Order: sequence, then structure tokens, then C-alpha cells
Amino acid sequence: MRAHTKSATCRSVGAILCILQPAITTLALSDKGKGGCHYVTTHNSTERCRAKPRGQSCYANYQANLSNDLDIVVDIYEKLPVPFGLVRFGVAPDHPEVKNVINTFTTTANKCCCNFFGNIELGKDVSLKDLRNAYTAVVLCYGAAEDRLLEIPGEDLPNVLSARSFVGWYNGLPQDSQLSVNLDCESAVILGHGNVALDIARMLLTPVHILEKTDITAHALEALCKSRVEQVHIVGRRGPLQVAFTIKELREMIHLPGTRTVIKSSDVKDLDKIIHDLPRPRRRLTDLIFKSAVSLSNEENKSWAEARRECHLVFLRSPLQILQDSRGQVSGIELSVNRLEGSEDDLPLAKLTEKADEDDLP
Ligand SMILES: Cc1cc2nc3c(=O)[nH]c(=O)nc-3n(C[C@H](O)[C@H](O)[C@H](O)COP(=O)(O)OP(=O)(O)OC[C@H]3O[C@@H](n4cnc5c(N)ncnc54)[C@H](O)[C@@H]3O)c2cc1C
Repeated sequence: MRAHTKSATCRSVGAILCILQPAITTLALSDKGKGGCHYVTTHNSTERCRAKPRGQSCYANYQANLSNDLDIVVDIYEKLPVPFGLVRFGVAPDHPEVKNVINTFTTTANKCCCNFFGNIELGKDVSLKDLRNAYTAVVLCYGAAEDRLLEIPGEDLPNVLSARSFVGWYNGLPQDSQLSVNLDCESAVILGHGNVALDIARMLLTPVHILEKTDITAHALEALCKSRVEQVHIVGRRGPLQVAFTIKELREMIHLPGTRTVIKSSDVKDLDKIIHDLPRPRRRLTDLIFKSAVSLSNEENKSWAEARRECHLVFLRSPLQILQDSRGQVSGIELSVNRLEGSEDDLPLAKLTEKADEDDLP
């Protein structure tokens, strides 16, 4: 894959593309608000409080209520048969310590007057009006349910997948169990520089003998056993100073057995001059990015020399179109070269340029 210009093409050896964009909420209710968790007060006087559905914000809310020692009953409604939303179906299977929050929530729920009703969809099986009439307070915590499209050519090709579906596929979300994922290709492109992108890259690159010890779905494990993916490119529209992933996830990628993390030294040029002035969390993260690009430890040099797989962090690029071959299969991605506009203190805007990038992406 090489040569990315606004008008030129680039190519790769068959790519699975996970389009990462923030998901959006679409619950058609009269109450304003997008995802998260919000209250709808009612004038009903019964001391029954209802939270729906049963994701992470629902429980946080529930715990906050209980910590006030209120004498209340909480009924939780959820469209899936099981509780815990994205904690169960989003958090990566090799991060069981994060999923442990499920135990805390379960302990709280078991202690108190809390009822769970699965397979009940608000807006279909029950209306908000019904709930407002029946409860003292209604809390809506329905998360983000749909993908936000990039609206670029080729987005609808086979093997161009939303991160939401791909994550659901390896985590056992019923609606994604039949997702068509073809890993009979050498490279994958992931769009976005957040923790979800690193989660997905890790799933694609982690040796199967490690993954099989997690609670990854059997169908995903089987597909990953046969996977030929050896190169993953994680593409972000901004630069190394604006990445949204956290140091823990990047460190995990850097230490992943059998995988070399590749960051071009030209992308971190002059970063060392400003690192010291950054706030602490950003300073530590930027320092790790910088060192991974230009000054590897002996241990990293040794293990990376033997690595068969590669994870490339690609900065200042945005997708223009997904390319296809004569059989309608994904063959590459065309990216723009971006420049940043605006202050470093705020989040600068990534502006497309006409510049050609002659660098090879391996
Ligand atoms: C891939 C991925 C990895 C993540 N990894 C981490 C991590 O490592 N650490 C971390 O802290 N956070 C992580 N997060 C973020 C975390 O999972 C979310 O921030 C958190 O789950 C959001 O909680 P929520 O309750 O708002 O939404 P959700 O967890 O999405 O819960 C919403 C619930 O509402 C239900 N629902 C939706 N519409 C209806 C309806 N009409 N009727 C009934 N029920 C409905 C859904 O089925 C769902 O169960 C990750 C997220 C993703 C996507």
C-alpha cells in the first residue's frame, strides 16, 4: 500500500477494514439527550424508581441512589436477555479485570430491592409514557446503538466492518454472531486512534494460544486461528499529540508477543522538545510514542527483530475512499494527508491537504 494523495490511489493485499467512528444513539423518545444517562421525572407518587436499560451508567446511577440509603425499589429493563451492556459486549475479552465491575454491580443489586427484566425494548415493548405513569422517576441509560457512517465510497463493500459489530462479533453479542468476517488477507486497516482501535488491533494480532484462555467467542477464535493478517495499520486523522488511546493500551500493544509496533521517526520529529511541557498523563503517553519510534530498549529491539507481525501507527491521514478490485473485494484505501489547524491547547482541527505522501506503508 503506498502513495496517498487526494486524487491518486493506494493499494494493499486485501484488507479487512474496521471503520471506527463514535456510535450514535437513535432511541426515538421525546426526551432530549444523546446516550449517557438522564432522568425523566414524573408526577407519580409511588416510591418506585425505574432505570433502563442495564448498561454501565444504569448501574452507576443505581449505586449512587442506593448510597443515599433511600427506601426504593428499582426495576431495570433491558432489550437484551442479559445485563451489563458494553461492559459485557464491548470490553475486550483479554481485559477480565475491567469486566470485574460486573461483580460489584451484581453484589449491589443482590443486596437491595432491584429487579431485572430482560428482552424488553423501550419504544417497542413498552413506551416511555407507560413508564412515566408507573414510576416516580425514570432514568434512561441506553448507550450508543448505531454506527456513524463515514460517507465515503466503498464503505458498503464486504469486509468493511464497523468496530461496533466487530467487537460484538468477538464478544458474543447475539446480533453480531453471524457477521461475515474474512481474515484470509494479509493486512487490516483500523480507522481511529482510540482504545477501541487498539483493542481490535490486539485481537487481530494476539497469538491464538493467549486468546484461547479468554472468554472470546468460539466462532471468533476459530476465525482468528485461520487468520493470515500480519499487518495492522491504525490510522488517525490527527498527530501523536492528539491520540485518544491511553498509555496502558499502547504499552500492551508494544509488549504484545510476536508483534512489532512501528511508528515513523518523522512523525515524532521535534516531539522531544515539547514533551516536558505537557501535562503529566499526556507527557507519559507522548514519551512512550516517542521512545517507541526512536529509542528502543535492548529488550524491545531483540523481541521486535524476531516479530512476524506488525502494528503501524499512522498519523495525519483521513480516509477518502475504500478501493476494490475487479471481483468487488477490498483492495486498499485512499487516504488524504492532513495538517493541523488551531491551538495545541484545544483539540486542533485536521484539515485535508492536496499533498502527496510518497512514503510506503509496509
Ligand atoms: C469496544 C469497546 C471497548 C471498551 N472498553 C472499555 C474499557 O476497557 N474500560 C472502560 O472503562 N470502558 C470501556 N468501554 C466503554 C464502556 O463500555 C462504556 O462507556 C459503557 O459501557 C457505557 O455505559 P452505558 O450504560 O452508557 O451504555 P451501554 O453499556 O451501551 O448500555 C446500554 C444498554 O441499553 C440497552 N438498550 C439500548 N436501547 C434500548 C431500548 N430501546 N430498550 C431497552 N434497552 C436498550 C443496550 O442493549 C445496552 O445493554 C468500551 C467500549 C467499547 C465499545
